[in-house]
Amino acid sequence: MRNKPLLRSLVPREVGALATGAGEPAYRGGQLVDWVFAHGALAWDEMTNLPASLRTGLAAAWDLSALEPAAREVSSDGTRKFLFRLRDGQTIESVIIPMAEHATFCLSTQVGCAMACRFCATARGGLIRNLEAGEIVEQVLRLRHDLATDPVSGHGDRGENIVFMGMGEPLDNWPDLARSLDVMLDPDGLALSRRRIQISTSGPREGLQKLLAAAPGVGLTLSLGGVDDVSRRKLMPVPGRTPVAEAVGLAADYARAAGRRATVAWVLIAGRTDGVDQAEALARLMAGGPFKVNLIPFNALDDDDLVRPDRTACEAFQAVLTAAGIPVFIRDSGGRDIAAACGQLRRRRLST
Ligand code: SF4
Repeated sequence: MRNKPLLRSLVPREVGALATGAGEPAYRGGQLVDWVFAHGALAWDEMTNLPASLRTGLAAAWDLSALEPAAREVSSDGTRKFLFRLRDGQTIESVIIPMAEHATFCLSTQVGCAMACRFCATARGGLIRNLEAGEIVEQVLRLRHDLATDPVSGHGDRGENIVFMGMGEPLDNWPDLARSLDVMLDPDGLALSRRRIQISTSGPREGLQKLLAAAPGVGLTLSLGGVDDVSRRKLMPVPGRTPVAEAVGLAADYARAAGRRATVAWVLIAGRTDGVDQAEALARLMAGGPFKVNLIPFNALDDDDLVRPDRTACEAFQAVLTAAGIPVFIRDSGGRDIAAACGQLRRRRLST
């Protein structure tokens, strides 16, 4: 049986129009929009102030939910990792990372990924399909529900930051990513600030150009993996087709247009990307640009010989960039005891 279209793939204005289109007064449209986005209703019968006839009519034409919880793991550091089963049986991951004052939600934009980065578990199975906008938006609502029912003590209540850093290359799913951003930024949608949303990309030329043209004002993180095209292609074969200089140039253009620094993410792998010579080359590439750098010590995968560098090597790399006047941070991804690196939980489940 084919799925019905997903209601949350519509923007709030379109959702409201469904009620008025069914002959209901305008205020019913507002009530429906509130249920769908602000309350994040996951079942039609939650919408208690809407007439049953309207709910029945909508339910006949639209699916309200597309994600079913399949696994939830909590790390000793508080990171929560979720596996969601989609309507076609595929699975995706989402993560809650508790921070001092807020929670960070890490979202997926594709089932699998075509980018084949060596340091990433998601890369191993290839791309299966793009997520629909409603599947992206529902991840936020599911994670909000989880925090509401099981608050993380001491993480503050300043809402959530969103990072598109889960499975998939977000800019390869531009139409649905853009639509999900419309929903997230709409005051009648998820009412999130653009300052609190970050797109993490491996930097495909076409995707960066679309982002630049759309100018959504959200943050941009460019994952680099190499300072020249030859070394980058060894770790990131598909993204390596966009020359480093061009990807960095487009990211800089976007950062200037958005009025906020772009982040360059650099995975530190022992003996491959953690050399002082590479730190110096990276500093030259970043010099004078609107960038900050996040250094991410590699999380070991179970089918590769790549190794995480020790802390001293990470700090030596950082020191070179700091000396060059570039803002640089070491970011350890949380939840190492629950396979929180992108794609690891799904891969483990697929192989058992
Ligand atoms: S790191 Fe990101 S772009 Fe690269 S394979 Fe993994 S999910 Fe895809």
